Amino acid sequence: MSTARNLVILGSTGSIGVNTLDVVARHPDRFRIVGLTAHRQIDRLFDQIMLCAPNYAVVGDAAAASQLAARVKNAGRSTQILHGAEALEQVASLAEADTVMAAIVGIAGLRATLAAVNAGKRVLLANKEALVTAGPLFMAAVAAHRATLIPIDSEHNAIFQALPRDYAGDLDGAGVRRILLTASGGPFRETPLDRFASVTPEQACAHPKWVMGRKISVDSATMMNKGLEIIEASWLFNAPENRIKVVIHPESVIHSLVEYVDGSVLAQLGNPDMRTPIAQALAYPQRIDAGVSFLDLAATQQLNFAEPDERRFPCLRLAREALRSGGCAPAVLNAANEAAVAAFLEMQMRFDQIPELIEQVLGAIGTRPLHQLPDVFAADREARAQAAEWLQRNAVPGRNQRPQARAGAA
Ligand code: NAD
Ligand code: MG
Repeated sequence: MSTARNLVILGSTGSIGVNTLDVVARHPDRFRIVGLTAHRQIDRLFDQIMLCAPNYAVVGDAAAASQLAARVKNAGRSTQILHGAEALEQVASLAEADTVMAAIVGIAGLRATLAAVNAGKRVLLANKEALVTAGPLFMAAVAAHRATLIPIDSEHNAIFQALPRDYAGDLDGAGVRRILLTASGGPFRETPLDRFASVTPEQACAHPKWVMGRKISVDSATMMNKGLEIIEASWLFNAPENRIKVVIHPESVIHSLVEYVDGSVLAQLGNPDMRTPIAQALAYPQRIDAGVSFLDLAATQQLNFAEPDERRFPCLRLAREALRSGGCAPAVLNAANEAAVAAFLEMQMRFDQIPELIEQVLGAIGTRPLHQLPDVFAADREARAQAAEWLQRNAVPGRNQRPQARAGAA
């Protein structure tokens, strides 16, 4: 038995954060929680503080922090409550932490995730947008600070498991021909295209196989999630765009595959439950119980596969183009997508307009080099400004009322 790992969870109130705490709670002797962070779900964070007694907790703003601090003190806990972006970075790089689960959604998680990398932590990466927007800087920081990066995204975790244990970014050296990323195809894999215009946020968030936060659920419905994952895989495994293939696999039992030059194809299988990749990464190289039911192959009976349809899902093409363009194009793609998804969830635009907005913004901004972090944030700001202008021009009248927040969404 190894000594306990000291863990910080960035984004502990989200879907990945809650699943991480579920796995941790099964192994109290293996993990100690030293930091938790949340943006707005203060009640849920309070409950987590009562359960885990972390040294630090971070919230979005000062008012929430002082209220939470009073509640925590009254309840007899000594957890220090901090707030704001700098506090996120501080907690991500705590001396007493060895492992950081990076599970904030969107580019909002970039600075804190990078802080953990710069502090040389073992970083369990769920926040794919950090890698999509700042890939080359991110991977250079991992190398420079000898951080350990373990992917949480189920596909990338599967690939990580199917690659040789000593894989260090040399596809050819490892005998790898291609990486095969599986995709469920989301809720609209077979929906007639002419219905895409009337898709509601609730329909888009109802994923057939996975329960996730609202942003990634919409990304799965447009297949931008798979597009972001192509970019994520490219940086994680040092693979060019043309060696990453997407395969539609509606059952979500095979989480991804690695194809070797000798014709072998290695896959990782399991029930679709994020606690499996979370447990794999938390315990690596050991294995621990994740609380996940075991796969019953006979009951599964059939596994299906198909080619992705880029006409149905233009976001796949846009992501590949952004990856090939390089520089800040993936950051622009990501920002335009974040803006479009937020506007769609607030019913300011239609589902089928999401790729349209992103393509417009990518075209308007063109290619920009990426030398340092401020380049990423400048591209992000500019893309959001362009997206706001697009929304002004194309706002859908009468569709701006806010939908009900779904239970469990952060
Ligand atoms: P979620 O919306 O459920 O949770 C997001 C978390 O980030 C919450 O704790 C929230 O408080 C925090 N947060 C949001 N905005 C913030 C801000 N501006 N500043 C600080 N904190 C903020 O999201 P999720 O589904 O858990 O996804 C988290 C990340 O993991 C995403 O990058 C997603 O792509 C990735 N991921 C999720 C899943 C999944 O099953 N949910 C699977 C693979 C990858
Ligand atoms: Mg995934």
